[in-house]
Amino acid sequence: MSPLVRRPLAWTVGFGLTAGLLIVIQSALLAWVINRVVMDSAGLAQVWPVLAALLPLFLLRFALARASERTAFNAGAEIRRTLRAKLLRHIQALGPAWLKNQSSGDLANSVVDGVDALEGFFARWLPNRALTTFLPLAILVVVFPTDWVSGLVLVITAPLIPVFMILIGLGAEELNQKQWHQLARLSARFLDTLQGLTTIRLFNAGAREAAVVARLSESYRQSTMKVLRVAFLSSVVLEFLSTISIAVVAVLIGFRLLYGQMHFQPGFFVLLLAPEFYLPLRTLGTHYHARMEAIGAAERIMQVLETPLPDDSTATEPLHPATTYNLRFSAVRCRYDNETPALDGLDLDVPGGAITALVGSSGAGKSTLINLLLGFVHAESGQIRVNDQDLTSINAGDWLRHVAWVPQRAHVFAGSVLDNIRLGMQDAPPEAVREAARQAGADDFIEALPDGYDTQLGERGAGLSGGQIQRIALARAFLKDAPIVLLDEPTANLDGQSQALIHDAILRLAEGRTILLVAHRLGTVRLAQQIAVLEQGRVAEVGRHGDLLARNGRYAQLLQAEVEA
Ligand code: ADP
Repeated sequence: MSPLVRRPLAWTVGFGLTAGLLIVIQSALLAWVINRVVMDSAGLAQVWPVLAALLPLFLLRFALARASERTAFNAGAEIRRTLRAKLLRHIQALGPAWLKNQSSGDLANSVVDGVDALEGFFARWLPNRALTTFLPLAILVVVFPTDWVSGLVLVITAPLIPVFMILIGLGAEELNQKQWHQLARLSARFLDTLQGLTTIRLFNAGAREAAVVARLSESYRQSTMKVLRVAFLSSVVLEFLSTISIAVVAVLIGFRLLYGQMHFQPGFFVLLLAPEFYLPLRTLGTHYHARMEAIGAAERIMQVLETPLPDDSTATEPLHPATTYNLRFSAVRCRYDNETPALDGLDLDVPGGAITALVGSSGAGKSTLINLLLGFVHAESGQIRVNDQDLTSINAGDWLRHVAWVPQRAHVFAGSVLDNIRLGMQDAPPEAVREAARQAGADDFIEALPDGYDTQLGERGAGLSGGQIQRIALARAFLKDAPIVLLDEPTANLDGQSQALIHDAILRLAEGRTILLVAHRLGTVRLAQQIAVLEQGRVAEVGRHGDLLARNGRYAQLLQAEVEA
């Protein structure tokens, strides 16, 4: 646990403990006053100084309880903040290659609800456990010299509460984990349904999806009810045990008072303390639920945090400055978790200052090649050289500063157009952003927006067309001015006019840069000076458009397939 949290939690325990000790003093004073008034028939004049002392004690206890709650709350907020940041950093570092195989609903659930559940464990369960260890002990130290019989009853009955709590908890832990898994499945399915709404509507699968979500909700409801039943049962058992124990103490004191074996004042004092003795144990029982909930959530959170990062590179060498950068892939092999390699001995030269297009059927390894250059996956063997340097010896951060990336569907974040273009380069002056937008062919439509560059865009670029979003993505690449640009079919799903605008922008971008372009469309392929045809993780053919056509090999077949499609 971070020291940032340990200190406020120590304060929480400290405040709680002091408040508890004040109860002992308060009970002693109260017992004295009642004894004087009832037994010695004392008047107000004789007891008022003590009564007056009770008032500040009450206030102090109140203030301490508030302070204890406040520090616990602050510690909880800090825990949530740091844990979420840590999780997000780790997920970010794991990268898109890992994310592709995860359910985003489940991850979102862990980051939001899971972290909340863990907060309950740290901010409520842990401080209470500490209080439960100290406070009853402190009360015993006072009770034993006053009345050893009551002390003995307390010592004998106290362990019953944790024992029952653990017995009930054993079954509940499994129930909680099940409930957590069900919530994760429900969130995942729900998010999936939202994201696939168009498909669902088009295929008229709404009723079926609703039925699946309803079924998952129902089983979540059932497991929640089971968990609540156990939580309810455990609190009833704890209440029952502590009430019985207090009754035993009271009866023993009552009889001894009756037979004159005990004075009123110590008897009353012990009776006042008995409920306070069980209180922390009972509170712990209610927070036991927080603990179990946390265990359910922690499993998934730890699973994410313990996933080793793909980037263990500690290379420090900067990328050597040059006017253009040539990339050379030699016998590169790369695989994901599965058996068959995604790249299987790939050889390819990508000349600087030119456009190289990667073509090939789906699953041929094009995205993997791009992922390799972006550092999201790592080669198992073989080598990638950048001019005279081995890519693995180049510092990852420095390398990525020289690389720009334009995906098939660029992501636009909620915020202004200006901030969206200078993503990650917040210091870029507005004039540079405008120039980048002009180069990307985006300036005209941005100026036509209601607030120009200050127009606020919705999540995922709501309010912009697909072609406009892609031009914003290209503007990012121009602004970054990276010498190496990777593009993944930037005109996928666009109409002819948008396609033409983007092709012009790519040609401008290509001046003096190394461009590697995953191309699905013939129009995009023809921008390239060199075309590499990938097949099962290798380069099957490489050359110019005309030469490859003339060879009438794989490239010609691919083109034929596109024309027929
Ligand atoms: P392309 O981009 O040419 O369609 P990919 O590079 O995406 O091809 O895929 C190459 C191979 O790697 C395929 O067999 C694909 O199933 C596999 N693959 C791609 N991404 C992943 C991933 N994140 N996890 C596991 N396997 C993957």
